[in-house]
Amino acid sequence: MTGIPFIHDFEFRYGIVEPVTDGIRRIVARNPGPFTGPGTGTYIIGRGEVAVIDPGPMLPDHVDALLAGLAEETVSHILVTHTHADHSPAARLLRQRTGAPVFAFGPHAKDSAGELEGGVDREFVPDFLLDDGDEVPGDGWSLEVIHTPGHCSNHICFAWPDAGALFCGDHIMAWSTPVIIPPDGSVGDYIESLGRLSQRPERVFYPTHGTPITDPGDFIAKVREHRLHRVEQVAAAIANGVDNLPSLRRRIYTDIPRNLEAGAELSLLASILYLQERGHVLIVGSGRRQRYVPT
Ligand SMILES: [Zn+2]
Repeated sequence: MTGIPFIHDFEFRYGIVEPVTDGIRRIVARNPGPFTGPGTGTYIIGRGEVAVIDPGPMLPDHVDALLAGLAEETVSHILVTHTHADHSPAARLLRQRTGAPVFAFGPHAKDSAGELEGGVDREFVPDFLLDDGDEVPGDGWSLEVIHTPGHCSNHICFAWPDAGALFCGDHIMAWSTPVIIPPDGSVGDYIESLGRLSQRPERVFYPTHGTPITDPGDFIAKVREHRLHRVEQVAAAIANGVDNLPSLRRRIYTDIPRNLEAGAELSLLASILYLQERGHVLIVGSGRRQRYVPT
């Protein structure tokens, strides 16, 4: 049990631009999976001259359907929350088709476990770099950039203060917790970014995957608790002499399918690095011979 009030219900139809609320529409790509839930939800901001947030994976059908739903309208901005393969690759296609510039924090930074989430997008190059606190003004809307590293080091969220809305990418999802894969992902950064998001006044958070979160304050607190609880479990196991990744995985993830074992171990490693950074654990050796020692 995580204690997080997950919401799994999500009403949508693939391939159709659908209204979400005033000034916000969404179209879901057909890329469902364990890390993407129902698929990537591409958001459309405004009417007439619009911004598109997270164009999605390299699925030409998705871009066709998006543009079909925007007939008579113009895409003025392409905004990307981070460089995972289910978020940014279609930005290239959409830029080709519309001429709109691409805005993001930057290209993919460090090496990361590429097999998870279908990989990372190393080819991504934005036209304009965004930084924390930047304003992105458009026709009838203005978004504020919040840098939220943790899930991905170049992850940003977009707040739309006038609409009370915040587009939170993969940092928080209603149906699952995001994977944190070192070295690009960091539990310390993730917790710090959660703290920043908890200070925001916007009342509805729109994750890229799944349904909106309408009580973000409580939800963020529970996500934080869950993540720190996992770190404490790892610390306790290491204190009890469990000193390697496969043993920790068997201790903490008692019943997971084989194909998720590698991901689970990387996720545990993220917690171990968090403990190491804070001086609670020493990492000895490298590779498969890495051992963890309490300090
Ligand atoms: Zn992601």
